[in-house]
Amino acid sequence: MKLQCPNCNAEFPPTDVNVTDNIAYCRSCNEAFTISGLLGHGPTVRPALPDPTMNIPKGCWYRETMDGWIAGATTRSPVAFFIIPFMCIWSGGSLGGIYGTQIVQGKFDLFMSLFGIPFLLGSLLLWSIAIMCVAGKVELTASGEDLTVFTGVGKLGWTKKITITQASRVYTSGINYHYPGSNNVNIIIEGPPNTRFGSGLSFVRQMFLAQLLRYKFGLPE
Ligand SMILES: [Zn+2]
Repeated sequence: MKLQCPNCNAEFPPTDVNVTDNIAYCRSCNEAFTISGLLGHGPTVRPALPDPTMNIPKGCWYRETMDGWIAGATTRSPVAFFIIPFMCIWSGGSLGGIYGTQIVQGKFDLFMSLFGIPFLLGSLLLWSIAIMCVAGKVELTASGEDLTVFTGVGKLGWTKKITITQASRVYTSGINYHYPGSNNVNIIIEGPPNTRFGSGLSFVRQMFLAQLLRYKFGLPE
């Protein structure tokens, strides 16, 4: 990767290029530029944003690592107090009634078993949401040019990998139902390809992660 100062055309020495923070500094011009901007994605001048790590909201975390940083937010939500008892009754009733009786009676009923499949799939989906409301998290790991987005519980979940120099902006989009954990708003890192994550996080936690990404990588909204 060869980067030049847009003012004086001097090539940036590797020591003055910090890919993790998306910044390249020209000593002769005494000016800093965003790497993404120099590569043609978004503005070259770093927008003046407040550092989100100076004011970390409850349920969020941030720490620096050897070659970057890790930041995250919990998807823990008061919705759990509603969804867990609801799911016990719903799953217990539908699945217990459909499959439980077959097991208890020791008789396989093909029609009832097929009839139960949508309830089984619905249960799986709703239980995964319920578990995210109790113990889920979204975690971002920045290391060099790579950003990893993890969504899950403990070590179990989904991972998305992004090359941050490809990103052009970070924004949020979707429907907010006003209940934490029940919204359908996503944080979107515009690609190519676009990366969506963070649904189920409260508004404040989404804002923290979105603003941190903008701040760290000099990306617009
Ligand atoms: Zn220069």
